[in-house]
Amino acid sequence: MRIVPARDAGLCRIRLAWGELSAAQARVIAEVARAFGSGFIDATNRANLQIRGVREGSQETLISRLVGAGLGPTTPGSDDLRNVMLSPLAGLDPHALLDVTPLSSALLDQLQRDTRLHQLSPKFALMVDGGERLAMLDHPHDVWLSAGSAERFVFGLAGCPPRFESDAPALGAVSRVHVPALVDALLHTFLDLALPQHTRMRDLLATCPIEEFLGHVQDKLSFPLAQDVGNWRRPPSNARLRFGVHPQGTGDSVCVGAQVPLGRMDAATLSALADLAPRLRMTPWQSVMLLDVPVADAQAVVGQLTTLGLATNPDEPFARLIACAGSQGCAKSLADTKADAQLLARLMPSTGDVHLSGCARSCAAAHRVETTLMAVAPGRYDLYHQAPEAVARHLTIEQAARWLARSTPDA
Ligand code: SF4
Repeated sequence: MRIVPARDAGLCRIRLAWGELSAAQARVIAEVARAFGSGFIDATNRANLQIRGVREGSQETLISRLVGAGLGPTTPGSDDLRNVMLSPLAGLDPHALLDVTPLSSALLDQLQRDTRLHQLSPKFALMVDGGERLAMLDHPHDVWLSAGSAERFVFGLAGCPPRFESDAPALGAVSRVHVPALVDALLHTFLDLALPQHTRMRDLLATCPIEEFLGHVQDKLSFPLAQDVGNWRRPPSNARLRFGVHPQGTGDSVCVGAQVPLGRMDAATLSALADLAPRLRMTPWQSVMLLDVPVADAQAVVGQLTTLGLATNPDEPFARLIACAGSQGCAKSLADTKADAQLLARLMPSTGDVHLSGCARSCAAAHRVETTLMAVAPGRYDLYHQAPEAVARHLTIEQAARWLARSTPDA
């Protein structure tokens, strides 16, 4: 694990296998965030956590506490690679085609054990989709695998599973048992062919025809890649399922989801969440799901989440707003996006999702959000609405709220 510099001192990224952490691990994170950092913890769009404001001189102790809590990698040098994304309901959704957690565990192990793979960029990411009803399908991944059935996975590169006729189709299919070998071949082929400037799969595929890439992959495999995937499309996901109470598997427990306002919570909130459930899962929407909650306690837990300030209803403003670290935490930011989002939360109309970004890197959202406010100066934003061109420029937050109200059907 390592700590990277940020405007508000060190930033410690904690990578969580499929976003999950135990209550005990959450308490350790809260404790070290309070003792060695600013006391604030961010949820990320890769379902990880970040401790902010880590002070000079405390970095080693902080890391050793996290590693001691089982939050580090299994092999040195592999922390940055632990980017295997799953649905927040992986292994829990009774409607999924299969439980993909064992398969993704095997892939995580593969990534950490094979030292050549440690050359991959920290941004390089895989997605394993079991057909759950809640899944982030809009984030482009370097490699994605999606269950076509319990025994067969379709796959693609530098993109997302296709949902609509207009989407690029899957590239091929393999049986479930062949997935680890396929991933191994895909990653080693990438490393074989990538030039130093090719950090992501999309960079390489911009210069290497996909047929050529797949030809190299096939040479590494002892089984044929099925390239005829027919008209396979991924069924839609329902992002609203990240809120509220949902069945967990076929047992007596339920999971309860809520949104962390603007992806940031203090240590006391994280500790309080740990008191509500034995397991937590962070989601790519910067929200949290509490797992293994007894059915009888579910409504009380929803009430406690509300008391803690989390959004438990998908229509609340903080369920529809995201903002990057902004000028409080990032030197690149042209505005204090978090503070501006707090103001917008009080003014915005009753529908519509909004993303505030301090610069074009768009750290808070790897996908297109209905409306994006892109900072151009302190307190000023260009507004993008379902189009690559700005529809209004240099707006204050109040002006942006009025623009949103005018363009909202029920306003
Ligand atoms: S989007 Fe830009 S300003 Fe915001 S955190 Fe990322 S790099 Fe910083």
